[in-house]
Amino acid sequence: MIPRLRPPFGLLELALAAVPRPGYDEARFEQAFANKFGFEHGLFFPYGRSALYALLKVRGQDRQVVMPAYTCSVVAHAVALSGNKPVFVDCGQEHFNMPPAALEPALDEQTSMVILTPIFGYPIERRDCEAVIKKKSPDAFVLYDLAYAFGVHDKRGPQAQEADAALFGLGIGKQLSTLFGGILLLRDPELYQAVKEFRDQTFKKPGRLAGLNKFSYGKAVYFAFREPFLSLVDLLERKTPLLNRFTRHYYGVDGIAMPADFQVRPTALQARLGLSQLERYDQIETQRWAIGQRYELKLAQAGFKVFEGQESQTYSHFPLAVAERDRVIAAMLDKGVGLGKLIDYSCPCLPGYDYSPDAHPHSYWFSQHLVNLPCWPGMTVAQVDQVIEALGACRDQSPKDFL
Ligand SMILES: *Cc1c(COP(=O)(O)O)cnc(C)c1O
Repeated sequence: MIPRLRPPFGLLELALAAVPRPGYDEARFEQAFANKFGFEHGLFFPYGRSALYALLKVRGQDRQVVMPAYTCSVVAHAVALSGNKPVFVDCGQEHFNMPPAALEPALDEQTSMVILTPIFGYPIERRDCEAVIKKKSPDAFVLYDLAYAFGVHDKRGPQAQEADAALFGLGIGKQLSTLFGGILLLRDPELYQAVKEFRDQTFKKPGRLAGLNKFSYGKAVYFAFREPFLSLVDLLERKTPLLNRFTRHYYGVDGIAMPADFQVRPTALQARLGLSQLERYDQIETQRWAIGQRYELKLAQAGFKVFEGQESQTYSHFPLAVAERDRVIAAMLDKGVGLGKLIDYSCPCLPGYDYSPDAHPHSYWFSQHLVNLPCWPGMTVAQVDQVIEALGACRDQSPKDFL
């Protein structure tokens, strides 16, 4: 069985992170993360959404925040719960990223912030997006949401190199993970101080047992993505609503909400776990890139339609659009390959926002048609080829399930 996901840390790494080490603390993690991704300041939060919420709270209320329709629901929730208004922009017809032409009409002098979101590690058309922002909303704060695109580059360099801020999620499905967590990177020292103060005053310290709980959670996650638990989890997920509670609640797709602990600070274990992965980040990125490029080349040769990139994708996931998603996932599972179904909603269609699917049709289409192939460091070339062969075999069996 090739799992759809593996956490980016090993059991030994998790065990080591449970041991206190002098100097390996939150402040060091924040600074190391900021240095790695080209910003002056970093702040570690319990979730990515908590970081966005804090930033928005500090910047004020009743403002318009322009963001993609096709993104993680928690981004929209953080905007709404901070007392601001999300303005949703559709993605392109051919690509899940938000094109500059769709962004432009959403912008005006009321726009307080624009969230640019390269998804699945695929770069956006940065130059044109930033040009329309300069033209229509010169005072808007520009935030790159890199939770699904750590390290994303284009020909001119890192995509967020001119941004005011960047946001990263560190939950279990991300390129680096501290089990739960998020990082906000900032340039302006005054804004950094203000957000830090807000966090330190509003967020609670973790309880004394929290470190232990996080370790147990980490261990459970590690085993959950290994056999035989993995097959069991997949079975439960497919055949019963048992796990719905957890996943639906986590993303808040039943309504605009945050988890109960969204303002409880992360533990020292999480900071240490983040630090040790950060030291290996380049290796993690290289491995993902090699896997993604092999998929891209071989799938294109086999006549599958792959997404346009700029050869600099960092592949937080390897996305593929299919006609009949559930049938493809089931057929691939029978061949021993786990596929994921991520962002299977368009944010404006979620309860609490209640737009019709027609308002952002491309985003809605992608929410119904994307799967992601296994793409995690440690996969062998043989495993990558096995996934490609299985896809070909599934298409031979049932061509109408594919595009
Ligand atoms: C994961 C994610 C976030 C933040 O997620 P949290 O679960 O709050 O840590 C933000 N944006 C995108 C695109 C994401 O994938």
